[in-house]
Amino acid sequence: MIIVTRIGVTDEEVDHIRERVEALGLRTHISRGDTHTVIGCIGDEEKLTSAPLLSIPGVRAVHPVMKPFKLAAREFAAGPSRIPFGSGSIGGEEFVVVAGPCSVEGPEMLFETAEAVRSAGGLGLRGGAYKPRSSPYSFAGLGLRGLEILAEARSRSGLPVVTEVMDTRQVEEVAGHADVLQVGARNMQNFSLLTELGKVHRPILLKRGMSATVRDLLLAAEYIMKQGNSQVILCERGIRTFETATRNTFDLAAIPVLKSETHLPVVADPSHAGGRRDLVAPLSFAAIAAGADGLLVEIHPDPETAISDGDQSLTFDEFHTLMKGLRPFAAAVGRTLPPVREVASTAAG
Ligand code: PEP
Ligand code: MN
Repeated sequence: MIIVTRIGVTDEEVDHIRERVEALGLRTHISRGDTHTVIGCIGDEEKLTSAPLLSIPGVRAVHPVMKPFKLAAREFAAGPSRIPFGSGSIGGEEFVVVAGPCSVEGPEMLFETAEAVRSAGGLGLRGGAYKPRSSPYSFAGLGLRGLEILAEARSRSGLPVVTEVMDTRQVEEVAGHADVLQVGARNMQNFSLLTELGKVHRPILLKRGMSATVRDLLLAAEYIMKQGNSQVILCERGIRTFETATRNTFDLAAIPVLKSETHLPVVADPSHAGGRRDLVAPLSFAAIAAGADGLLVEIHPDPETAISDGDQSLTFDEFHTLMKGLRPFAAAVGRTLPPVREVASTAAG
């Protein structure tokens, strides 16, 4: 259930509405828009329906949320949610590019990559320490050592770090080292993991499962939000279809659909979607044009020797070119990008 206030409602009136709802035993989520405020009510809605809410000063309307996902639904907030990220946020005017290797392979390659990300105008560093791999014989990541390297890369570069958490047993450890916890496609419906992540005070980057519908993705976000963590960033990373020309099929339409269904930020991962280096730029341009709030891109100092996902990883020079190429698209949709330094790092480029 949501309570919509009248235009120009005062802070005192909002506080009073919140107190009345909480006195009925429900939790509230306040979302302030430019003109009005939405007070989302979480809990036993029966108690609300019998209360004379319209007589509380400042209340304009009371609506049920008709979607199966309530807290993630667009109408639950007065406008798009901004999730804090480093010194800025995701979901506002700034287009946020997070880049880095598929796997953290060691300290030097990660520090070098962080510098390349920063100098090209990237706002976050990605890198897997715990890696979900299709084969149990493949490299599964450096684990705790990888997390320590990520934390060191953060303190050297100032970039917030994003890394995957695969299991409920890793949540505390990963949250102790990373700024944003990634849930991989293979874990999107790991409901015990989602529930644990709902108790963490860190933003969660939730990747769409490879056979998940948009509704499944939003319900997975709801699992996290229901526990109290409303900082969820959704990621379209391609789904499995009969098409074999690309690693996955990039569901471009999912971006505007998600933007109309939810207030949560939406980013795209063109690297896993296409699975090929040459597709990263066109898919990125399409994503920003379609309304994405950011990108998650794989880059590597020497993709040829990458331990995982080398074929889809950009060199530093290619990443620099991508960041420049995004500018006209960003301008066309009214988004901003941080400045790119003219001199690119060219390690093994
Ligand atoms: C990754 O980001 O490296 C990854 C494993 O992605 P996904 O879960 O989308 O396959
Ligand atoms: Mn990868």
